[in-house]
Amino acid sequence: MRIKAKDIPENGISLSFQDSPSQWGMGGVGGDGPTIQGDISGTLKITKHNEREFFLWGEVSAETRLECSRCLKKYVQSLRCEVHADYIPEVTMPSEHEHELSRTDLNLYFYKGETVSLDEVVQNHLCLAIPMRPLCREDCRGLCPQCGRDLQDLNEDICFHTTESVDMRWSKLRDFITKK
Ligand SMILES: [Zn+2]
Ligand SMILES: [Zn+2]
Repeated sequence: MRIKAKDIPENGISLSFQDSPSQWGMGGVGGDGPTIQGDISGTLKITKHNEREFFLWGEVSAETRLECSRCLKKYVQSLRCEVHADYIPEVTMPSEHEHELSRTDLNLYFYKGETVSLDEVVQNHLCLAIPMRPLCREDCRGLCPQCGRDLQDLNEDICFHTTESVDMRWSKLRDFITKK
């Protein structure tokens, strides 16, 4: 999504949207990595620091298809993130030598000419909202380390490896309690 710098009014502009990922430069993302499923929606507001510098803030949500880090099953997770970004014209970009990137600069974006693109900001914020270790559910039991069976799906077909190890854990705990 793009907006013309001169179209940003003095008191800012508010954008509510529900668009396909391709509208945000995220089309055609495939492979094994996380993919956005369905539309990206949210509300963003752009306000002016001054004539050339803007502040973008708001909230964006989307659904993403992830792979559980324990049981390796694909599942869909909702992402919702707050967006904060400063925009300055590219001409004033400080050179790397005289300026060391500090943490706050990570939310600093540049625009070329008159066109302010919101794509990169939204992409980055959504990426940061993706968990490092995705879990299909909080208490996902994962796969049996010995036979590789999905321990979530074992209802009747009980994998005895886990039953054993659970029993061992319990007996140790019992020992511990009785010794105390
Ligand atoms: Zn899982
Ligand atoms: Zn097993």
